[in-house]
Amino acid sequence: MIYDVVIIGGGQAGLVMGYNLKNRKVSFLITDASSEVGETWKQRYDSLRLFTPDYFSSLPGLRLEAKSYPTKDEIANYLKLYTTEEKTSHCS
Ligand SMILES: Cc1cc2nc3c(=O)[nH]c(=O)nc-3n(C[C@H](O)[C@H](O)[C@H](O)COP(=O)(O)OP(=O)(O)OC[C@H]3O[C@@H](n4cnc5c(N)ncnc54)[C@H](O)[C@@H]3O)c2cc1C
Repeated sequence: MIYDVVIIGGGQAGLVMGYNLKNRKVSFLITDASSEVGETWKQRYDSLRLFTPDYFSSLPGLRLEAKSYPTKDEIANYLKLYTTEEKTSHCS
């Protein structure tokens, strides 16, 4: 398969890039060194909470539902969900 765009890194920036390319009907592939989406967040220290509240931490197209300041696992799960929800899904 030939893609118009290859995105190296499926963190927040790469996922949002994919979201915008999908909306513009541009084919793309996201590659990541991690084995699954959100893994870099999962590996961070257990007590980590974002210093930005949920409404500043949402990516376009999908609201992050968390208790005010999200934990690292909430972010990891949110990023995973971002790739599978219909509106923001990266699979077609
Ligand atoms: C401890 C900590 C707390 C933070 N708290 C906040 C906060 O509260 N609020 C806030 O707004 N920001 C916060 N940040 C910053 C936020 O995490 C970054 O701004 C954001 O993650 C940047 O997104 P990104 O997609 O550019 O990079 P990343 O999230 O770092 O994603 C990069 C991706 O690229 C992959 N990758 C890297 N190298 C390669 C390679 N050679 N080949 C393939 N894949 C590769 C990685 O596996 C990763 O998935 C925090 C950061 C840290 C470290």
